[in-house]
Amino acid sequence: MVILPRFVVQLHDATTLHFDFRLQSGDVLRSWAVPKGPSLDPAIRRLAVPVEDHSLSAGEFEGVHEGHRRGSGAVIIWDEGTADIVRDEPGHLKFILDGRKLSGGFALTRTGEKRWILVKVRDTDARPGSDIVAERPESIRSGKTWQELRDPPGDSPAGILAE
Ligand code: MN
Repeated sequence: MVILPRFVVQLHDATTLHFDFRLQSGDVLRSWAVPKGPSLDPAIRRLAVPVEDHSLSAGEFEGVHEGHRRGSGAVIIWDEGTADIVRDEPGHLKFILDGRKLSGGFALTRTGEKRWILVKVRDTDARPGSDIVAERPESIRSGKTWQELRDPPGDSPAGILAE
């Protein structure tokens, strides 16, 4: 039996709100910051800025990173699942995602220094005209939005560290 790599997309309210797209490669998560998040519309090309590899445990985090350094702020697990990587060349990746929000083929292509593009492949999972980020803003783990995680009703901000 083949165990497929994992993918996770975290929505991160850091200095600027962005999505972190992470794709398992062995015991690390290759990572890109995607300011506008993924799309299921093949006509939409999303900037994906490569960042350092992260640990597998980083991809399990949902909560609020305290402090003021880069990387602090609320994080939700926006989507996760398996990734069947069908092409892995320098500067070009193609993979089939099986997540709760994202499914089917996607491609990540390097177009410049620190600049990749994430795009949905035209297949039966494509949804032209859709905006999955607006339709489904919530965590697939807790059902909470990042704002609800940051400001839980009746809770002080200090009390919302991840379990
Ligand atoms: Mn981030």
